[in-house]
Amino acid sequence: MSHYDVIVIGSGAGGGTLVRHLAPSGKRVLLLERGDWLAREPQNWQAHDVFVDNRYISADTWYDGDGKPFQPQVHYFVGGATKLYGAALYRLRAEDFGDLRHHDGISPAWPIAYEQMEPYYTLAEQLYEVHGARGEDPTEPPSSAPYPFPAVSHEPRIQQLADDLAAAGLHPFHAPCGVRLREDDMPHSHCVRCATCDGFPCLVHAKSDAEVLCVRPALERSNVTMLTNAEAVRLETSPDGREVTGVVVDRGGERETHTGDVVVVSCGAANSARLLLASASDAHPAGLANGSDQVGRNYMFHNSQAVLALSKEENPTVFQKTLGLNDFYFGSRDFDFPLGNIQMVGKSSADMYRGEKPLQTRLAPQRTLDDVARHAVDFWLSTEDLPNPGNRVTLRDDGAIQLSYTPSNEEPKKRLLHQLKSMLGHLGMHHDHLVPRHAYLKNEIPVAGCAHQAGTCRFGTDPATSVLNSDCRAHEVDNLYVVDTSFFPSIGAVNPALTAMANALRVGDHLLDRMGASRPERTVVQRVA
Ligand SMILES: Cc1cc2nc3c(=O)[nH]c(=O)nc-3n(C[C@H](O)[C@H](O)[C@H](O)COP(=O)(O)OP(=O)(O)OC[C@H]3O[C@@H](n4cnc5c(N)ncnc54)[C@H](O)[C@@H]3O)c2cc1C
Ligand code: SF4
Repeated sequence: MSHYDVIVIGSGAGGGTLVRHLAPSGKRVLLLERGDWLAREPQNWQAHDVFVDNRYISADTWYDGDGKPFQPQVHYFVGGATKLYGAALYRLRAEDFGDLRHHDGISPAWPIAYEQMEPYYTLAEQLYEVHGARGEDPTEPPSSAPYPFPAVSHEPRIQQLADDLAAAGLHPFHAPCGVRLREDDMPHSHCVRCATCDGFPCLVHAKSDAEVLCVRPALERSNVTMLTNAEAVRLETSPDGREVTGVVVDRGGERETHTGDVVVVSCGAANSARLLLASASDAHPAGLANGSDQVGRNYMFHNSQAVLALSKEENPTVFQKTLGLNDFYFGSRDFDFPLGNIQMVGKSSADMYRGEKPLQTRLAPQRTLDDVARHAVDFWLSTEDLPNPGNRVTLRDDGAIQLSYTPSNEEPKKRLLHQLKSMLGHLGMHHDHLVPRHAYLKNEIPVAGCAHQAGTCRFGTDPATSVLNSDCRAHEVDNLYVVDTSFFPSIGAVNPALTAMANALRVGDHLLDRMGASRPERTVVQRVA
């Protein structure tokens, strides 16, 4: 086996972005991905295949805190979860980087300030071709550059919703979107603005995902190698435990070991914790880098609610995910604690409701599912869940993941839903029809909806309470880094992917400095009018 300068394990938002950033340096990089390329096939855009047959969800079995098995919503492909994501690419709020008082406690401060992440957010927005409009969202943090691409326009029903919200004194904004759309030049647009985006793979590779925008371009360089269907199962260390000396990989039942000067774990929050815990040794008896007993703890995944309202007029919107609302992010008139973010999700269809039988009856028994779908307006509400050491990933004797989780911030979650419900009458919707959708959760065990998983290897300045230092290097291992959403000490209430991407670029610069390589030239993407 050849020796590499850097081995990166996992090709999603964290790992894929990092490899893209390291590639121009000429350093030898090995990317290990347990999944395969996601096939481009008609089923990519078939709601029944995606939402009913779960075609792109891994066959893993995990267990909840009571030992009950469930199928987690994880995706093992080149590009990781970004292959299926909604590409709502938000920055955390500047306040999310400090201590923030919530109804159920404190959302703890990060070891770096927003200002240190800002240049990397700008770079990540450019790399992932984000569309948006600055200045509309009053909670928006400061930025050093405009969005590289103009906001995706609202379709008429969503424009009406924006107008109605504004008339009610609120501040709806154009949601930041990672789709490669050129509305002023559709013949040359990669994106065709279809209805099967959020939760679906993009058949025409027009979504700003980690495969298309990072892994493929990185692989054009001869110094970057990727192995697919290559699952890292154990990290070996030097006898004193200070250095990772080998990455043991399972490829179709065969074991092989790869070596690198630096090893970066980016398997997604639960699987990264699993890999470290499974790498226990004499030097690290509780799991690699786990002298503090923090690996696997503080798992977060957002207190999310997917709900559907019924518009009085039909809602013929095709691409619905263009509007966000953060007026309640830090609280409301009668509640001094943060409530969270409201945004649109992909337009629901009758096929997505199949299997959700209560939905039909709870909405209106006389309506057919198609009728419901024609009138549906779909919202996604996110309230921050707080880090709790008891919410954790542990390994069962058979090596499978056990995920123990007790929710927090249930009161603000309820209030956020109530806020939306109380406004429906002014928004041209039936005021008593707001019902949960389980299109994303798909399972009676709520922890299965782990799309926004984070926090199992948090970074911090104190090795007694964190796994990683502020460069995302393990306190206890000199050449081990983690760059997926595991590093989050708190999760905020906006979608996490852009923060993972920006942080991977930040850690990438640190690694280039460490290796004595030059940082890539910052090229600002020309803004398209
Ligand atoms: C349906 C859906 C919609 C979403 N929508 C949004 C959205 O609109 N906006 C947003 O910001 N976020 C969204 N997310 C969340 C977002 O996709 C994740 O936060 C982000 O991808 C996490 O990045 P990551 O690097 O931590 O993990 P991932 O992107 O999941 O990457 C982990 C990678 O590691 C690989 N891997 C795992 N274990 C191993 C191993 N042992 N060896 C080798 N490889 C391994 C996996 O196969 C995977 O490719 C969504 C997620 C889903 C599922
Ligand atoms: S809306 Fe655009 S990016 Fe999304 S799936 Fe359709 S073509 Fe792809």
